[in-house]
Amino acid sequence: LVPRLRPFASTVFAEMTALAVRTGAVNLGQGFPDTDGPAGMLDAANQALYGGANQYPPGPGRPELRAAVARHRARYGLEYDPDTEILVTAGATEGIAAALLALVEPGDEVIVVEPYYDSYAAAVAMAGAQRRVVPLVEGEGGRFALDLDGLRAAAGPRTRAILVNSPHNPTGTVFTAAELAAVAELCVAEDLIAITDEVYEHLVFDDAVHLPLAGFPGMRERTVSISSAGKTFNCTGWKIGWVCATPELVGAVKATKQFMTFVSGGPLQPAVAHALDHELDWVAGLRTALETKRDRLSAGLSEAGFAVRPTAGTYFVCADVRPLGFTDAAELAWQLPERVGVAAVPVNVFTDHPAEWRHLLRFAFCKTDEVLDEAITRLHKLS
Ligand code: PMP
Ligand code: GLN
Repeated sequence: LVPRLRPFASTVFAEMTALAVRTGAVNLGQGFPDTDGPAGMLDAANQALYGGANQYPPGPGRPELRAAVARHRARYGLEYDPDTEILVTAGATEGIAAALLALVEPGDEVIVVEPYYDSYAAAVAMAGAQRRVVPLVEGEGGRFALDLDGLRAAAGPRTRAILVNSPHNPTGTVFTAAELAAVAELCVAEDLIAITDEVYEHLVFDDAVHLPLAGFPGMRERTVSISSAGKTFNCTGWKIGWVCATPELVGAVKATKQFMTFVSGGPLQPAVAHALDHELDWVAGLRTALETKRDRLSAGLSEAGFAVRPTAGTYFVCADVRPLGFTDAAELAWQLPERVGVAAVPVNVFTDHPAEWRHLLRFAFCKTDEVLDEAITRLHKLS
């Protein structure tokens, strides 16, 4: 492996899941649901599979999926031309990597909010660019908030783009309108491209609202908006994602993407189109169920002695291990499966400042209540 990619030789998700399997631990590490998506979507995939949709789909994606993505984006008041402004990708992961490869040059800088989803640092490195990392700070009610002065300070003459993930993995924070407006102002002032990761767009709780950054003044033309079906429809293994942006930006991402995978997921694309058009009531039920699961796991973790941070969206809750007498959550995370039979992910692996973030564990609550309850029972053994 070339030196610049050596830090990315393995992923914490694969390693922690392997450890959970080896030890028989309840796996609240890697974020994936343990139930299937809507039956109508699975039927549509089945029909496509047996209906001959098994050869290469068109390069930009099947037209019915691009049209469904356009209708879905229009729900936010954002209009995209399905023929020139939407590209289907192999999950959001490919969309993010292809966008960075297409839009930043070696030596350019990309602003990344810390903690960051692990693929961002790897994709920035693959593009030969440098990341400028801005940590989240503690905001109102203990939420993780954007450090707006820090973001402004991070933008310099070589800064080309900013990666914005909301709802945010791993913290579960959902950026407010005021935070996003400030990001938009910065992008316009510094002429930055924003690459947004909105894969948890439907998974927001209480009174939190997901607001696409592309809807803020001056942002429609400079935002590459990325999302995917995995989290919305409980199909993380399908890897059907999409990129929405101007024809020029989408064209650039497509040029890169066509030599990465060219196309993927032929028979799954019409099923996701069906889901986007017809299964949003199912998604509303998922959202409500996840809100209850968030409460269930947060309460259980508190009872077990963790200091639990508030979560407004995603699959995840972060918990501070210090009240239990531990100082290093990363060390604890690797012992936890053997020690009590639960797997979680240390938050500091998603940062450039492991010492500052070493007290937090991320737990996934996208699991059946029985699984969550079993994990909570086991975690009580820690105190
Ligand atoms: N972004 C974030 C923030 C994620 O948590 C994940 C993991 N599901 C992804 C991107 C990857 O999405 P996909 O599976 O669509 O590539
Ligand atoms: N997005 C999932 C998580 O954060 C993991 C995806 C992966 O395994 N790469 O847990």
